[in-house]
Amino acid sequence: MVISHEVIGGVIGQELGNPYWAFLFGFLSHLLMDKIPHYFPKETKNKAIFTICEILMALGLMIFFLQNGFPLSDTSFWAGLAGGVMMDVLFVGVPTLKKSKIGLWHSTRQRHMSQPIYLVFDAIFVVGGLFILGFLK
Ligand SMILES: [Zn+2]
Repeated sequence: MVISHEVIGGVIGQELGNPYWAFLFGFLSHLLMDKIPHYFPKETKNKAIFTICEILMALGLMIFFLQNGFPLSDTSFWAGLAGGVMMDVLFVGVPTLKKSKIGLWHSTRQRHMSQPIYLVFDAIFVVGGLFILGFLK
């Protein structure tokens, strides 16, 4: 889920404190996290609804971060977050790139599960990440 990639990328950025390393390790975290079983609906209609919800939550979370202690001047945080979501933004969001070799590789290596119980892994990443970032205290 995109918000898991955002939060974990942001955590990496905060912890590394260097925007270049933050982007690189945020990017690598994405490739690792895609291998963890996570929920994604099977039916085409539900896929579209779920994806729209994901995009809205991802944008909402960025606004939340901007308003709660992570201004754009915090380049390491935002570089980590950007690295974390870059694969999905480019290779899921851009239709021509999605059909490219890298795009197909990215979508076939996912561990998508159709049972909603697998949302628990996203919840762990988001709640754990928000805790590390200093929220939820
Ligand atoms: Zn991905």
